[in-house]
Amino acid sequence: MNKITNHMPTAELQALDAAHHMHPFTAGAELAKKGARVITQGKGVWLTDSEGNRIVDGMAGLWCVNVGYGRHELGEVAKRQMDELCYYNTFFQTTHVPAIALATKIAELAPGDLNHVFYAGSGSEANDTNIRLVRRYWDVKGQPERHIIISRKNGYHGSTMGGGSLGGMTPMHQQGGLPIPGIVHINQPYWWGEGGDMTEDEFGLARAKELEDKILELGPEKVAAFIGEPIQGAGGVIVPPATYWPEIQRICQKYGILLIADEVITGFGRTGNWFGSQTFGIRPHIMTIAKGLSSGYAPIGGSIVCDEIAETVGGAGDFNHGYTYSGHPVASAVALENLRIIEEEGIIDHVRNVAHPYLAERWKALEDHPMVGEAKLVGLMGSIALTPDKARRAKFASEAGTVGLRTRERCFANNLVMRHVGDRMIIAPPLVIKPEEIDVLIERARKSLDESYAGLKADGLF
Ligand code: PMP
Repeated sequence: MNKITNHMPTAELQALDAAHHMHPFTAGAELAKKGARVITQGKGVWLTDSEGNRIVDGMAGLWCVNVGYGRHELGEVAKRQMDELCYYNTFFQTTHVPAIALATKIAELAPGDLNHVFYAGSGSEANDTNIRLVRRYWDVKGQPERHIIISRKNGYHGSTMGGGSLGGMTPMHQQGGLPIPGIVHINQPYWWGEGGDMTEDEFGLARAKELEDKILELGPEKVAAFIGEPIQGAGGVIVPPATYWPEIQRICQKYGILLIADEVITGFGRTGNWFGSQTFGIRPHIMTIAKGLSSGYAPIGGSIVCDEIAETVGGAGDFNHGYTYSGHPVASAVALENLRIIEEEGIIDHVRNVAHPYLAERWKALEDHPMVGEAKLVGLMGSIALTPDKARRAKFASEAGTVGLRTRERCFANNLVMRHVGDRMIIAPPLVIKPEEIDVLIERARKSLDESYAGLKADGLF
């Protein structure tokens, strides 16, 4: 067979893809009929496909390409590291400079006493580590019955058995025997969809109180930890009411329960601070990180762990857990260079002072569209709720997600990557997006909304 390259006809690439590549979170047979879009290049916020289309990536890949595509420095660092030391493990009393340097840098950036890094290859793996780490912590503390972890419905914490169990995604729990025992879910702080007649603030407190109720129902002596994303990403960019996190923090503190902030999306500048916990005033014992840690240039994740947990677990013999690629030297070197770029180029200042304010005004203006209920934006993480009736925050009569999917299809046709989660549209562009690129993103988003609206009317769905 000839070498497979970008220069092959799209249909041939699609046929080979359909024959041999199983896509994540995808109906394989359906995609095989349609053919996957073949992405060939990336530069800044722009993608190119095999047909030569130039696409604005409003999702930074999967919320990860924070510094934008095509930064050659990252490739240079990877090459240098591969030449020097392509791999070595950190299991058997060995270490190496990339793992040391990255952990030191992460400890410097992370707030409070989050001074220790346990490396993983992804966000899912890091959350699996967290399950084992918090249970081990309570074992060592002489409280082995403290093993239950509380998380939220419609939260996302990855797709491994542990990560998928921590997450509260019903379609995932319906496949493969999830959740594993010892993980329970409370309701999410989704005011737009579930807030009823309450104000946002009242609702935030009510949903936080569910944590206290659940702790009391289970018995505080059985609860190890609570985990949540500062802003739910995959659940639809659900920004919690301002009252929510302070109350969650208070409850965790009151019952001595460990708090894990899953910062896989919100970490490394996404919300306009290094971490989403800083944006929301959360003081976690552990943070989960991945994605923006390397801007997606290399697969790497980890847990940032506070002194107390690291010292307790570290002082009690072997912690029997780890991955071949924990602290992989190439991934670590790439991540460190990525953090250098974010810091030295002032990318987080750019989010706060340029990109967020510019996008916020235009994003909010989409609320004048007949189909848009609310438009939310924190840093560069945004969502719009599609609705047939804004005043009532109503849902569409069609099956949930129909309107979102149709709108996403229009975005796709207009060369904008904007995702849908049910009937919410979401964005998280690379943090380096410039005002003139924001103009293009908004212009394409509005055009897609208009076309979707016209189509729905024509089909009698609006
Ligand atoms: N946690 C959160 C909050 C995420 O958004 C994701 C990925 N979308 C994960 C964990 C899992 O990360 P990964 O896909 O790298 O395993």
